[in-house]
Amino acid sequence: MASAGKAAVIREKSGPFHIEDVEVGEPRADEVLVRIVASGICHTDIIVRDQVLPPGPPAILGHEGAGVVEAVGSGVGLLAPGDHVVLAPMSCSMCRNCLIGHPMNCDSFTPLNFGGCRADGSTAYHDSHGGKLNAHFFGQSSFSSHVVVSARSAVKVSDQAPLELLGPLGCGMQTGAGAVLHALAPPAGASIVVFGAGAVGLAAVMGAVIAGCDPIIAVDLNASRLDMAVELGATHAVQAAEDAVEQIQAVTGGGADFALDAVGLPTTLRQAFTALNVGGTAGLVGANALGQEVSLDLMHLLFGRTVKGIIEGDTVPSVFIPRLVELHLRGRFPFDKIVKRYPFTEINTAVADTEAGRAIKSVLIY
Ligand SMILES: [Zn+2]
Ligand SMILES: [Zn+2]
Repeated sequence: MASAGKAAVIREKSGPFHIEDVEVGEPRADEVLVRIVASGICHTDIIVRDQVLPPGPPAILGHEGAGVVEAVGSGVGLLAPGDHVVLAPMSCSMCRNCLIGHPMNCDSFTPLNFGGCRADGSTAYHDSHGGKLNAHFFGQSSFSSHVVVSARSAVKVSDQAPLELLGPLGCGMQTGAGAVLHALAPPAGASIVVFGAGAVGLAAVMGAVIAGCDPIIAVDLNASRLDMAVELGATHAVQAAEDAVEQIQAVTGGGADFALDAVGLPTTLRQAFTALNVGGTAGLVGANALGQEVSLDLMHLLFGRTVKGIIEGDTVPSVFIPRLVELHLRGRFPFDKIVKRYPFTEINTAVADTEAGRAIKSVLIY
């Protein structure tokens, strides 16, 4: 039987989110029905609202959901009603990258997460007039009180953890922390610089603290975000400016071993790359419109430097998210410090605060 729910629906490019009654279909054999308790708001929700990336309206976005399993399909063995879950991006489980443990590089990542529908083109979501809604965004569409997701996207977590905080672990937090702990994997004592002290960049700073990096340099335009980076363990804060690279070279004695661009602009990636020591690696996690290009100094690259694109921290979500939950419970991943809560019905205020920089990580409570 279909479930009645409430969802925040986008009806026009860059328009507001409308809270509407929606109908959510029943889970198929490999799916589960989840009652959403809370959802983070991520930069990618905002650029999809603006149609920088698909799916277009009418659509239900949201991809940092946390909730409780209400029903499971006949083929689901590892989850049961009552389980606490964090929802993670979808992957196919069968392609080469999925099979070798890099599901966030899945060959079908784009259609499965940005296609607006299931892999077979169907949707579980309709509005009150029976109209089809683009949904299954990142396998979930968590701006809905009830979601139908593949069991592969639902990561069971400890019921000792504060469920309403955990949604951002499914995207922003695993993107930043995973980029450091998984993709860059710096040894203890390595130097690292993080461009952008928003939610993803601050998660990277927390990851760098766990990895034992030193120094940890945060770069941003916003002084209060730099203060937060220092509170979370950055050893140095650098005001983003023309001379940011010189400042990083001064702190590191020549250049950083690792750099992460959590902004995603050609200028910030170029600075992250330029700030590297010989043999250093720069990672890119910030998303932008298709077709942007960056120019890099060839001889600087030739001296053993690497530039690496990193999707969702290149993690295996069902392994990494429970690990972040455990680190949080032990006080070693204090991402709650950057969370600001809003009632679900105030989604437009939360989005405006996120865009204006008044909130680092907005979380909607259902
Ligand atoms: Zn795959
Ligand atoms: Zn995201």
